[in-house]
Amino acid sequence: MAAALAGYAALGSSEREACVAEALRALDTPRRPPVASRGAERRGIPTDTSPSGTSQPALPAAAESSRSARNGTPRRPVGTGLATPVRRLAGVGPTNAKRLARLGVETTRDLLFHFPRRHVDYSKLQKVAELQVGDLVTVVVTVWDVGTFPTRRGFERIEAITGDETGNLLAVWFRRKDYFGSKLRGRQVVLSGKVESRLGRLYLNDPEVEFLEQADLVSTARLVPLYPLTEGLNQRWLRNLARGAVERYAPMLEEHLPTSIRRRHGLVDLPSAIAQLHFPDDEPQLVRARRRLAFDELFLIQLGVAQRRRARLRAADSPPLVTPPALADAFHAALPFELTGAQRRVAGQILDDLAGRRPMGRLLQGDVGAGKTVVAAIAMLAAVGSGQQAALMAPTEILAEQHGRTIAQLLGAPAVRAAFEHLRGRPGPEVGLLVGSTPRARRRPLLEAAASGELDVLVGTHALIQESVAFADLGLAIVDEQHRFGVLQRSAIGQKGRSPHLLVMTATPIPRTLALTLYGELDVSVIDELPPGRQTIKTRWVSAAQRDGAYEFVRKQVQAGRQAFVVCPLVDESDAVAAKAAVAEYERLSREVFPELRLGLMHGRMKGAEKDAAMAAFRAGETQVLVATTVVEVGIDVPNATVMLVEGADRFGLAQLHQLRGRVGRGAEQSYCILLSEMPSLDGQERLRVIETTTDGFRLAEEDLRIRGPGEFLGTRQSGLPDLKVADFSDVALIEEARKAAFELIERDPDLREAENLALKARLAILAENATEAV
Ligand code: ADP
Ligand code: MG
Repeated sequence: MAAALAGYAALGSSEREACVAEALRALDTPRRPPVASRGAERRGIPTDTSPSGTSQPALPAAAESSRSARNGTPRRPVGTGLATPVRRLAGVGPTNAKRLARLGVETTRDLLFHFPRRHVDYSKLQKVAELQVGDLVTVVVTVWDVGTFPTRRGFERIEAITGDETGNLLAVWFRRKDYFGSKLRGRQVVLSGKVESRLGRLYLNDPEVEFLEQADLVSTARLVPLYPLTEGLNQRWLRNLARGAVERYAPMLEEHLPTSIRRRHGLVDLPSAIAQLHFPDDEPQLVRARRRLAFDELFLIQLGVAQRRRARLRAADSPPLVTPPALADAFHAALPFELTGAQRRVAGQILDDLAGRRPMGRLLQGDVGAGKTVVAAIAMLAAVGSGQQAALMAPTEILAEQHGRTIAQLLGAPAVRAAFEHLRGRPGPEVGLLVGSTPRARRRPLLEAAASGELDVLVGTHALIQESVAFADLGLAIVDEQHRFGVLQRSAIGQKGRSPHLLVMTATPIPRTLALTLYGELDVSVIDELPPGRQTIKTRWVSAAQRDGAYEFVRKQVQAGRQAFVVCPLVDESDAVAAKAAVAEYERLSREVFPELRLGLMHGRMKGAEKDAAMAAFRAGETQVLVATTVVEVGIDVPNATVMLVEGADRFGLAQLHQLRGRVGRGAEQSYCILLSEMPSLDGQERLRVIETTTDGFRLAEEDLRIRGPGEFLGTRQSGLPDLKVADFSDVALIEEARKAAFELIERDPDLREAENLALKARLAILAENATEAV
């Protein structure tokens, strides 16, 4: 004892102060007393020194039994077992129940599926003499002495002199008063935490602590789970709650994976996987649990994919669309350019699909400027040439308007119209445009013409999927920049006809793993070649100090007859705020920077007609610099524009910057992308460096996915990307394994009728129900 205290005494008060300062910094929130320790004491559980002893759940007491014991209410079928509301668990009051709800945890099932973010490895017991600075360690020690020192606002710092037979160790906490200081003295405890050092002296900073005699070591001496938290909840409390839930409720989980699949893919059963994911016995068990649950998530997704694909391939009532040769000849003769080899190849793939009775489902990928629109027009020609209608849906009014114009031009060449009239006995093809701001007077005749079949092609925004829109014979539905649409919108356009062929186009190159998940049921065509004569767009990231130089550059380009975009920083998600920023920037640039140039303005809050006018003026070269929000991000095609200047570029994602950059370099002139950024974050800097050096959209997409993760990457929550808790979209091998298993299963038992697949079928039904609710 004297020896122990000698060490303690040797620590000067300033050093102790320093230790505490350290502890203070490490502690962001004051914590509550450790429930487990108090619980253990209360219960007076006899000593069980096995660190992984699992005799009894520490907390909570079983929900139903405590409830029925209290008021004698019999169990009801709802609200028991896995559906038990967490507020009925012992230790969960109304306040904590609300906090749990914020984490999406309302039932015991939710609690089981509230997975740890990660685990800290406190499993290796060490002797005090072996400790090294920086290690995460667990020691079993006796508390020789405890000193508590009051600090401001009812807190106290607690310093315990502990030790085992190999040496002494200081432990420091900073807690509310009445914490546990006095209870520690003389006890044997298990401490888990990080070894730090102050002035050459080792100490444990805010270690987890449990009494050795406690039956169930939850927070020490094992792989300790760390959960996602919300304000007011603390790790220890949630860990104990989870522990109780895992013990009692995990065994109730019903296995939904067929045994044959589990066996073939070496997957542990669901209850053990859940238990091990929370409180793994060791690292290999944790890995196995994770693999099982990751496979599970991916497998369920791929089952849906397999079912959709099968359904599409079996439906055999699509109208075969074949372009009459005379029409095709006229079209190609009128084209202002030669198709690239890639365009010809994908057009061929599409035309092959269209000629069949099985509905096409094809994803057309092609980098910005690759020339997807003309391919869409070729597909439309097959539809209208076969007496069917075609629809094209684009994500913004500006883009829809531009497509309307391009398609009308491509299909409206005199020779094409002549051939069409000769074939179908009436003038055409007629192309209409329907967007949200289309005035009622123009809308009515348009809808009538679509419904009667007089209209051959309807181009528009999601206005196309409104109920009032009906087609006489929709043979082909095309969705452009399709990642901008939700799954439902995407499929809604397909509902507008009996069983139209579907073509979805995207310039956001989707890494293979995501494509397998999102568009797994579609066939894929890729335009992997840019039209000839395109020059690489020179991209520079410049700092605020070089702003004047950047403006000077814009001025020179404009004087040389070119045009420029100035994109305002991404201020806010809201259109209104962004619009205001764009207006302010427009005024500043007009007055102070480019008083001699003709500037235009474009933002999301402008009326349809105003946008049209602004776009028309820019397209015609009447305005030389277009100041805009990200409404110009997708699709806009003004070949004379050669400068894209992006303000606050670090705020944009890579895919977005690539799209913005794709607005220039669409003609033969050398084009430039200037990225202004004052103080980019580290991530921002990384993105800017990547975009400066890379023009390959696919590589950018993969980088973006890596830097931002899939949700952000796709830009919208309704992108249709399922929420993965365990699986990782970058795990190609597992995605492919799950996909293969799912496709084989659907091949063998398409409707999941076999006994061993019934649980799976039920699980899918629940998922489908939740998915519809969420929309
Ligand atoms: P995206 O694939 O980004 O939608 P667009 O269809 O808008 O690209 O085409 C970009 C530009 O390239 C347009 O101005 C279009 O007229 C032009 N273009 C398309 N195909 C060719 C080609 N084969 N040769 C030359 N220019 C082409
Ligand atoms: Mg396009």
